[in-house]
Amino acid sequence: MYDETKEVAELAREFREEFEGKKVLVSGAAGFLGSWLSDVLLEAGAEVYGIDNFASGLRRNIENALKRENFHFYEADVSKELPEEVLREDFDFVFHLASRASPFEFEHYPLEIIESNTIGTRNMLEIARRNEARFLFTSTSEIYGQPKVVPTPETYWGYVNPIGIRSCYDESKRLGETITMAYHRQYGLDTRIVRIFNTYGPRMRADGIYGRVVPRFVTQALTGKPITVFGEGKQTRSFCYVTDQIRGILKLALSERASGEVVNIGNPDEITIIGLAHLVKELTASQSPIEFHPLPPDDPPRRCPDITKARNLLNWEPRVGLREGLEKTIEWFRGVL
Ligand code: NAD
Ligand code: UDP
Repeated sequence: MYDETKEVAELAREFREEFEGKKVLVSGAAGFLGSWLSDVLLEAGAEVYGIDNFASGLRRNIENALKRENFHFYEADVSKELPEEVLREDFDFVFHLASRASPFEFEHYPLEIIESNTIGTRNMLEIARRNEARFLFTSTSEIYGQPKVVPTPETYWGYVNPIGIRSCYDESKRLGETITMAYHRQYGLDTRIVRIFNTYGPRMRADGIYGRVVPRFVTQALTGKPITVFGEGKQTRSFCYVTDQIRGILKLALSERASGEVVNIGNPDEITIIGLAHLVKELTASQSPIEFHPLPPDDPPRRCPDITKARNLLNWEPRVGLREGLEKTIEWFRGVL
């Protein structure tokens, strides 16, 4: 049986010294990355204040956290009025993760996504400003759109369709970055922006409109359903295991040299989607057929991070390879399906 408490404890050991006793606000705390981040911070001894409206998050992700005395949870929308208790607290760190993140959701909830990343970002920044807290915004590789430079460094400005199906996400994350930098420049707020590249692992949703490619392929393979490859599957992605992503985010939050910086965090190991389908089939020993479906509009043909900056600034690089990360993820899905 897969047991994430071991991975959480290992990560927490690396960060205990810096986070023990600190007050940390995490928006999107019931989501995939937000719940991992919260668990690691809780285990490291921080007082964690989680906000989530369960738009795409799940109560089961925070079940263990809710049992701890150092976890304080508020069901609230980051783009609306925030709970009094949260506004009264005095935080050391604010991590803003709240936003729906799957391409299927972009079609169904564009306005909500725009609000989470713009109004929501401003609301979280205001809390950080009042507290003189350190602020971290979770941006995305999507801000690069369909990049002409791959692997893509932070200095690349992006090639984004502003009216396309993904634009609600791409453009609102871009504005979220802009608002973050405006607080940094106008108020001298200590901010950091992480551009997250495709990250996967236990706790991802596979159901309905929430599923991204890894959980979809894994559950399809485990249940003997066809594996749905979009297009010819020649498009590439580079998949980062969740513990590597969380370590990168925490290192970025802590680095004394990263104020006002933006950093790519992702795994530079690029693979085609058809390659991923075959790998998942192999690792699950599945008989599922591979089925081809139309490629959605504006689906980036290549995505791979240049992580030179993360290496130099944070001394960070991924430790978990795709096979190993997929094995853990598959084991977790076997336990919950
Ligand atoms: P997720 O959907 O699992 O988590 C997002 C969480 O935010 C959910 O719990 C959801 O209920 C909550 N939320 C959404 N809108 C909200 C609102 N208005 N108010 C309060 N809570 C709200 O997705 P995730 O993969 O954990 O993504 C977390 C963050 O990382 C997002 O900002 C996302 O854009 C970013 N990101 C993730 C990836 C990835 O590969 N997982 C890649 C790039 C960027
Ligand atoms: N994809 C696929 N089959 C699926 C889901 C996704 O082939 O069932 C493809 C999708 O077209 C994209 C890649 O997998 O090229 C990654 O999709 P995901 O939804 O995980 O996020 P994206 O990286 O596009 O934001």
